Amino acid sequence: MTNPHHSSRELAERPRDYLGPNLNPNGLVLTPHRLGEGVYALMANMAPKDNNGVIIGEKYALVIDAGINGAISRQIQDLVRQLTDKPLRYLVNTTYHGDHTFGNAAFPEEVTVISSRQNKASMRDLDYEKKMRFGNLRGDQDVLADVTVWRRPDVVFEHFCAIDLGNKVVELWHFGPGNAPGDTIVYEPENKVAWTGNFLMAAGLPAMLLEGGPGPYIETLKATQAQLSINTIVPGHGPMGEGKGSLEHFLAYMQSLQEQVGKAFASGWSLEETLERAAQPALLSLPASMPVTPESEALLVHLHRLNVLATYREFEKGSSQKA
Ligand SMILES: [Zn+2]
Repeated sequence: MTNPHHSSRELAERPRDYLGPNLNPNGLVLTPHRLGEGVYALMANMAPKDNNGVIIGEKYALVIDAGINGAISRQIQDLVRQLTDKPLRYLVNTTYHGDHTFGNAAFPEEVTVISSRQNKASMRDLDYEKKMRFGNLRGDQDVLADVTVWRRPDVVFEHFCAIDLGNKVVELWHFGPGNAPGDTIVYEPENKVAWTGNFLMAAGLPAMLLEGGPGPYIETLKATQAQLSINTIVPGHGPMGEGKGSLEHFLAYMQSLQEQVGKAFASGWSLEETLERAAQPALLSLPASMPVTPESEALLVHLHRLNVLATYREFEKGSSQKA
């Protein structure tokens, strides 16, 4: 299915019986975790619902990701007011996905929204994006009722952008495509904290290959590794993690996907056969801080199957281009 108004190419296909992460914001409560002077992760009480962040300098405050709707956006803004009396001046979107950007419109006009050029370019068709995100809401369409406008970034950057909050510099990086074409990392160099959005999760959790195979994603992970020294990651979903180990795990998982599915494809296995035989998500396990429930364990399998599907489709594309 192609959509001329949608510059991102999110895979519309899903494995049979696929159940994506539950991002329904009902019951979502964000709690600040202090990671340094003026540096807070806003952690969701129920993983894998969306996490956020606040960084506070001597002059301004900056928020990371906007929440999935107006109500969550206001919850984030209330937390900022509890943490500081500095004016909220900036909002960064780590990805274009609605669970990170639908709340943009509920931030005041004077808050400057910043993201990568590609993220802004992917924010064109609100109805289509709502449809894609409904798959994560467990059939509950009411939670997006207050989302009528998709506020796009006011300022975009290409590869790197530094923001001075007053004696506190925040770096924004775009190293290339990952979960989406415009994945943006927010890096606070003093405490070496990185907000990684959908791009990188705590070790043990899988990537979500929504816009292509592992190839370009692996390159972007390597570029991140080469540029940033990260102590702590605050992912868009799931628990915080240690930087080096999370990057290494993601790389290892993606490389094994490529190898496993590549072999299957070369042996002439069909997609169904590949999904069946590669069903065991080797290398994946729930991080210790994530509650083990039937749903959370099933999520690993569902996401792995999605990744096998996306990787298989990439091999198909590659071989049809060669033919
Ligand atoms: Zn997300």
